[in-house]
Amino acid sequence: MLVFATNNAHKLQEVRQILGPQFDIRSLDDIGCHDDIPETADTLEGNALQKALYIHQHYGCDCFADDTGLEVNALGGQPGVHTARFAERMGWGSSHDSQANMGCLLSLLEKNDDRRARFRTVIALLLNGEQHLFEGIVEGDILTERHGTEGFGYDPVFRPKGHTTTFAEMTAADKNAISHRGRATQKLAEFLRTHSQQ
Ligand code: IMP
Repeated sequence: MLVFATNNAHKLQEVRQILGPQFDIRSLDDIGCHDDIPETADTLEGNALQKALYIHQHYGCDCFADDTGLEVNALGGQPGVHTARFAERMGWGSSHDSQANMGCLLSLLEKNDDRRARFRTVIALLLNGEQHLFEGIVEGDILTERHGTEGFGYDPVFRPKGHTTTFAEMTAADKNAISHRGRATQKLAEFLRTHSQQ
């Protein structure tokens, strides 16, 4: 059994699909964890490790946790670790509001020709008392307007490099095949297949 420190049904489904049926992946709900797990580090790596260590210390199981950030070149890599609460942080709106987050981002980049950005996901795995980190990156551009209705978060304004559509105009399968989280999860899967006894 391996715990994924999330209750996000979409993430769970994606991870289970990539890892395959030989891995018994449990959610926080499955282990009866309803704690507000601290996420106070100032890096994606730090936050992912902090969540995984919390579960390991309180529930004594092997586990992994993820953290994702959008890193925009023209903003010096921001919002980064603050991606989920970017608008709130900039005084633009409430916490975890995607429309406010995108509005804030588009406004900050207005008239800026450098649209380069990347999504970066870090997965921290604690297996048999050892820590392992896996990173997935997708490079792309921030458009000047929203396009598409699929997905979540910043998907309508993020167009991955080499593609003509935003993440919000892709099917979930097409997005997962090239996304930051998909890539990090693929690395986790490769590692687990070679190192796990399950
Ligand atoms: P989390 O660490 O997975 O919770 O991601 C932090 C924030 O990054 C989310 O609240 C979203 O705003 C944004 N985000 C993460 N993954 C994606 C994605 O695949 N598309 C668009 N936004 C994302």
